[in-house]
Formats: sequence, C-alpha cells, structure tokens
Amino acid sequence: MCVLDCDESPEVWLETERKARKEHICSSCCRVVDAGEKYLAHFSVYDGRSWIGKLCCDCVSDRAKFAEAHGGILCFPSELRNVLVDCIAEGDDESEMWRSMLDRIKARGLAVAGVSHAPSRPRDSGTN
Ligand SMILES: [Zn+2]
Ligand SMILES: [Zn+2]
Repeated sequence: MCVLDCDESPEVWLETERKARKEHICSSCCRVVDAGEKYLAHFSVYDGRSWIGKLCCDCVSDRAKFAEAHGGILCFPSELRNVLVDCIAEGDDESEMWRSMLDRIKARGLAVAGVSHAPSRPRDSGTN
C-alpha cells in the first residue's frame, strides 16, 4: 500500500449526501448525476485552498474502497483518479484492483461522452 500525501489535516472537510434537484457532473468520473439521484457534495479547505466537488454514488463507493485500503484517508473528489494513478504507479500488490477501478471510473465518463451536456447552461460549480 502506498502512503497518501497527508501530513496536514484539512481545516474544513464537509461532505453532505444530497438528492440532485437537477443534473450534476461527477468531479471524478464526469458522468451525469440525474435529477433525483443521490450524490455527495464536497467542500473542504486544505492548506488555505478550497476544494469543491461532487461525487456520484458509484465514485463514492469506489473512493470508500480505496480509502479502506489506505488508512481510511479520503481524497478530494477531483483527485480520485490521480491518487489511483499514483497508487498503480507504486505497483503494490493491490495495484491490479486499482487499475480496474480506474478503468471503471473512466468507462463511466465515456458512457456519457457524446450525450448532449448543454455546456452553455451555467452550472453551480460553487467557485465564485
Ligand atoms: Zn496504494
Ligand atoms: Zn463518478
């Protein structure tokens, strides 16, 4: 198991499970969270920098699995792919498992590619 970069704990870590009232995009896999579906809204401040993200229910469970194998440390939604890539690069015993998880995450995003996302419509990214 690789060691996640976490010498400091975040100043703020807020995660709320919400029911989507409109479509959202998962910060990890980029798939669309449909209205009515549950997702996780993330807000944190780490080292003076704020992080905002959303996770679809699939990515929530993937991240939980990854955290379980890494001392319970949860990563930022937008960093899930990166930490998987790093962990795979370490080539530890479990890296095959993370490789298939990463493929799964990528596949979720690809599944919606080509579907109209109406990017012209402003989204509540939360970043002012
Ligand atoms: Zn690892
Ligand atoms: Zn996702």
